[in-house]
Amino acid sequence: MHERLDVLRLGYRKGRDPRITTHLALVSRAFGADGFMLSGDEDKELFSNLKSVSERFGGSLDTNHVKGMSTLKQHVASGGVAVHLTMYGEPYRKAIPSIRRDRPLMIIVGGAKVPGDVYKLCQHNVAVGNQPHSEVAALALFLEAWFGDSGSDKKFEDARLVIEGTNKGKIVHEIE
Ligand code: SAM
Repeated sequence: MHERLDVLRLGYRKGRDPRITTHLALVSRAFGADGFMLSGDEDKELFSNLKSVSERFGGSLDTNHVKGMSTLKQHVASGGVAVHLTMYGEPYRKAIPSIRRDRPLMIIVGGAKVPGDVYKLCQHNVAVGNQPHSEVAALALFLEAWFGDSGSDKKFEDARLVIEGTNKGKIVHEIE
């Protein structure tokens, strides 16, 4: 039993980054997060696409549109742990052992411009390498390190479609 883990994506712009934001949510679901929160523009279509993935492949990622900064403040004020993924942070393999696991965790990923307060509000500013790259890559690597192997090898009990990994071809089991 782990404490709740949510991913918060700041500053979503509907016309500009739906694809990368969908990928963030898919990584959140596949690698073990319980919820995905979006601040910025609302996007019902994006949430409905995610629901359809969970209906086929299982799991129940909670999706919510939120006011980013107040959600983050409330999370920290109520005793939660907040990890901000940023290239300016502390190396993630060094940081992870110091992050407490007995509290709900919120992982914050930025958009075009990250407000300076995010750095101050979060107890941990964590880097996946100190080079600029992608929020999707940073989130995936962080979650894999946080959960260990079980992160990227997650199984969903209520899946209708289960893929059996194979070197050649596609094997998909349809569960009755
Ligand atoms: N220019 C933005 C800023 O004000 O910092 C960052 C843009 S970057 C493409 C979007 C997000 O990717 C960042 O906010 C951060 O969450 C994530 N990111 C990019 N490189 C990272 C790294 N090396 N380590 C951790 N997160 C990273």
